[in-house]
Amino acid sequence: MNNEEQHTRRQLAAAYRLLYHFGWDDLIYSHMSAKIPNTEYYLTNRFGLSFNEITASNLIKININGEIIGEDTINPASFILHGSIYRSRSDVDSIIHTHTKEGIAVSADKDGLWPISQRATGIIKNLGYHEYRGIEIKENEHQLLIKNLEQKNYLILRNHGLLTVGNSIGQAFLYMRNLQLACEIQVLCDRNRTILITDEIIEENLQRSKEFHTSLNLQTPWLVLLKMVERLYPNYKK
Ligand SMILES: [Zn+2]
Repeated sequence: MNNEEQHTRRQLAAAYRLLYHFGWDDLIYSHMSAKIPNTEYYLTNRFGLSFNEITASNLIKININGEIIGEDTINPASFILHGSIYRSRSDVDSIIHTHTKEGIAVSADKDGLWPISQRATGIIKNLGYHEYRGIEIKENEHQLLIKNLEQKNYLILRNHGLLTVGNSIGQAFLYMRNLQLACEIQVLCDRNRTILITDEIIEENLQRSKEFHTSLNLQTPWLVLLKMVERLYPNYKK
């Protein structure tokens, strides 16, 4: 195993511990994956393990065309989905899908994610929607999902949950954190008594956000989270 694979395994195991820590694991039904750099393989969890048991060494390796390396069980709903996204988006190196209560509540809202918080303004222009047709196990539905994701990083799966993609495990995770928190804010609000942020301000804020982030290390929040995993769940590296 090369250093890049070992590094990816550790980062992904840490991200699984964070899904567990924040209660976004849906027991065993959320799923996350990461591509091993410069290869045609990605890593994901062994289906049936609590996310608190996931370590660098018990992650499963899968060819992006769907061939599992070794004898292992993975979530059938995640199996085709992750490979399909990696094959269609060369810029994507990590994918997360969750079923949190707040995410599902917002996914079922006719208006989707409301422009009511600073956090939501950073998401809305980079967000797609995918209509519900049942559990995602049909290949043709994955093609539709890819079409709805387009070149975006955020996807709300109607009546189902949330999905984010990123160019690294840290980026995909931080995008999921953004979307999850925006949904948590929304479910605390009454639409009839909520101030909506205008499209003009959303555009302005995207510009300001770019200026703000040039002077800030985008990796910083991910490094903070990794330190937290190191402190709370040190055996994730095994
Ligand atoms: Zn799902």
